[in-house]
Amino acid sequence: MVGDWKPVIGLEIHIQLKTRSKNFSPEGYEYGAEPNTLTHPVSLAYPGTLPVVNKKVVEYATLLALALNAEIRKTFHFSRKNYFYPDLPKGYQITQYDTPICENGYLHFKIGKTWKKVRILRVQIEEDTGKSIHDIDPFYTLLDFNRAGVPLLELVTAPDINSPEEAQAFLVAVRQLVRHLGISDGNMEEGSLRCDANISLIPPGEDKPGNRVEVKNLNSFRFLRKALEYEIERQRQIYESGGTVERETRGFDAVKGVTFPMRTKEELHDYRYFPEPDMPPYELSQELLEGLKHKMPPLPFQLWKRYTEELNLSEKEAEFLIEDLDISRFFEEALKSYNSPKSILKWLMGPVRASLNQNSISIEQFPLSPQIIAKLAQIADKEIVHFTVASQKLFRELLKDPSKDPEKLIKELSLDQKADDSSIEDVVRSVLQAFPEKIEQYHKGKTGLLGLFIGESMKKLKGKADPRKVKETVLKLLNKEQ
Ligand code: ADP
Ligand code: MG
Repeated sequence: MVGDWKPVIGLEIHIQLKTRSKNFSPEGYEYGAEPNTLTHPVSLAYPGTLPVVNKKVVEYATLLALALNAEIRKTFHFSRKNYFYPDLPKGYQITQYDTPICENGYLHFKIGKTWKKVRILRVQIEEDTGKSIHDIDPFYTLLDFNRAGVPLLELVTAPDINSPEEAQAFLVAVRQLVRHLGISDGNMEEGSLRCDANISLIPPGEDKPGNRVEVKNLNSFRFLRKALEYEIERQRQIYESGGTVERETRGFDAVKGVTFPMRTKEELHDYRYFPEPDMPPYELSQELLEGLKHKMPPLPFQLWKRYTEELNLSEKEAEFLIEDLDISRFFEEALKSYNSPKSILKWLMGPVRASLNQNSISIEQFPLSPQIIAKLAQIADKEIVHFTVASQKLFRELLKDPSKDPEKLIKELSLDQKADDSSIEDVVRSVLQAFPEKIEQYHKGKTGLLGLFIGESMKKLKGKADPRKVKETVLKLLNKEQ
């Protein structure tokens, strides 16, 4: 919030779907491909060609609608939005107008420590345009039609967002959601996720916002935040100097960090919307709906509730699991073989995370299965092998050959051979002898040093001892020292 001016923000987010073919024509799309190599008579609008709906697009849109808890329209049609632009070969875009595939949903997202709910006004299916390239030829605008007809979903939020930080966090949540659903790669750098932001300010002491401005084409999280911060400041200054903010569409200059006027907002009738006559209305089948409901993975907010309320995990642990939903999936899989959340987490947040970081890989590329991690957790819990040894020796050996069975490996490396009482005592004694000053400090009240004595002894015993037994022995010998 800036002074007493309250920002009101609504986002229009374009999500590029990762389908094999385009929305209404059979060719595929690949970011960065040689210009004009991914085209087809339909997407180039050759006379006499007819569009056909891509079923996968409808399926993906429905999946998103379900994830947003939105009201799904069982029968819908497409509409033509007419405008002239060189990168729009048909002279109109096929989109949805009066029958969007869904309306009135919501999405929870996390901002700092709290969750906020943003209403979703609608999601509509549409197609992308080609690209106009102005900076290659000094005299001409070049056109690349590869992107023409690529399927997009436009998600429109209610103006429920109240700060640039919230807007950014919301967009991050949308990216996470579409990736989790597997419908888009959500890559902002490649334009798979694009955002227009509407923003107005409510003056101090009032409850209605002034005119809203739409800032177009914000193609990074940072630009979204920067553009909104700039707009808040610009609009506030206009009001404070007695002016009014014009309802207009603006662009964002990322280099200068400022927004600039693009055009005053078109009136709806400028687009002459009418139902697409070349395609019949689409009927969503009940089977598809049921099938998708069945396929729907649990969503971040549900998982958060499950982890913090049902499994009693700490916020830090829950955060770790939902930050990367593939980790949460791995965790859930592991729980199926060994239902001890804390033990599995100890492995995931410890040795597994370290290994992922060290090798710069994602959990999907991690060589050990959730079942193996569950087994390791069980082995450590039962103290067949101590956690330290299991997480170092056993884990490392398994990474070298993930096909190995942990239990056989324990035998092979004779990790389960426990030291007998007298050898434990020998080792503990030698450890204590190495730390005379520490023992003195211990007796003066620094009881935390107990961990050091136990740890050192375990290390010397190569983990082949029951840690409880070692602790007992350490205590026994320490008390004798007095
Ligand atoms: P239109 O049909 O004029 O495009 P919509 O109802 O589709 O209007 O809303 C477009 C976007 O503008 C939505 O994301 C919505 O949340 C946002 N919006 C509406 N009113 C305001 C406002 N006062 N301030 C900021 N954004 C707003
Ligand atoms: Mg709109």
